[in-house]
Amino acid sequence: MAQFVQSCLGVSGSGHLTIGGVDVMDIAAGYGTPCYVMDEAVIRSRMRLYDKAFADFSPNGGGALFASKACCFKAMYRIAAEEGLFGADAVSPGELWTAKAAGFPMERIYFHGNNKTDADLRLALDLGVGTIVADSREELGALSAAAGEYRKKQHILLRITPGVDPHTHKKIITGSVDSKFGSPISTGAALDIVEYALSLPNIVLDGFHCHIGSQIFDASPFIDAADIMVRFIADVKEKTGYEASKLDLGGGFGVRYTSDDPEFDYRGGVRSLCDAVRERCSELGVAAPVLMLEPGRSIVADAGITLYTVGSVKEIPGFRTYVSIDGGMPDNPRYALYQSVYEIFKADDPLGEKTACVTLGGRCCESGDLIGENMPIQPVKRGDIIAVAVTGAYNYSMASNYNRIPRPPVVMVSGGKTYEAVRRESCDDLIRLDV
Ligand SMILES: *Cc1c(COP(=O)(O)O)cnc(C)c1O
Repeated sequence: MAQFVQSCLGVSGSGHLTIGGVDVMDIAAGYGTPCYVMDEAVIRSRMRLYDKAFADFSPNGGGALFASKACCFKAMYRIAAEEGLFGADAVSPGELWTAKAAGFPMERIYFHGNNKTDADLRLALDLGVGTIVADSREELGALSAAAGEYRKKQHILLRITPGVDPHTHKKIITGSVDSKFGSPISTGAALDIVEYALSLPNIVLDGFHCHIGSQIFDASPFIDAADIMVRFIADVKEKTGYEASKLDLGGGFGVRYTSDDPEFDYRGGVRSLCDAVRERCSELGVAAPVLMLEPGRSIVADAGITLYTVGSVKEIPGFRTYVSIDGGMPDNPRYALYQSVYEIFKADDPLGEKTACVTLGGRCCESGDLIGENMPIQPVKRGDIIAVAVTGAYNYSMASNYNRIPRPPVVMVSGGKTYEAVRRESCDDLIRLDV
């Protein structure tokens, strides 16, 4: 359907919005609102697309590590495991625990974070995490000591900051020299930390990681980063004799949230990266590393929508029209954080003319609790269902209980049927830990 940026959306015989072929009005009636809905087929096909692209183009194998932070619950890891995804990245004890509980192979986990605590490192050792992406000298020292107690040699990558500015929102740039993450190449810190890692007894350095940012639509900053990282591999080889066997170029491929956003050819992006790495490696005389990317958003974002029920419509003449819904900032903080733009639809008439232009407001005691402003939509009234498009990434995973609001369920659509991947939180869930 050309009307929707998401390929999983369509229109039923009765004119209602569908996701994965299922009428969203039935989902709203069956599971209530607010409600996240995700199409499993999109998630699976995107995972396959990435791993197939690496199989086809990488000079020395590799694949995609799903970035857990984009969308984390047990079903995600079950799907990734069933698809045989190359791996997953995790950044917290909770993500590790969820992956383990879902039966995801822990040797295929890459554990990130700029400040892993001693407890985090021990949990990773306990759970048998395959690779730790180490960020600092302090972490390396603590990890080597802890691995010694476990009589383990822990495989690691080192997080390196290549100094690439991808020109995206400044809160989601992570690969420039001035960053809390990793060791910059340009200051010499990266080479120092490599030498330190190589000197430690219980650590096996497999290679390097970098992550330049998120929601990037142009392959060129990734190619620049790959170029800089391969040069770094060559430089390290020359100065220390150590040759990296793995290179993880992070996440960040852009997602089309609205029809104003460009399309990103993910397979083409992987291909350009693989080609750039192959060429640079042969030019500099280093072996092509196993290559990885860490897509999060581009695997899940356009698999998801959120359904809400309208509570009130308030027109302020000369100003704007507020439409209040039964969710908001607690289930989708992205407008409050980044002024992210979304498309919305009246769920039972998504092709109707969008003659209204509204500010979609949540139910929190915050004026900033908005899903968006200046949003075109079909006319709506109390009781109508609104669908917000492309909410599969960084919505459920960023959800909070602000104002003591229970979090919505995640309903998965698969093969024309639905199931709950995450149940709706109850008020009892909210007080469960209160003493
Ligand atoms: C956020 C992040 C990702 C995922 O980024 P997307 O834009 O969702 O693809 C991958 N790796 C690291 C280290 C990250 O911080």
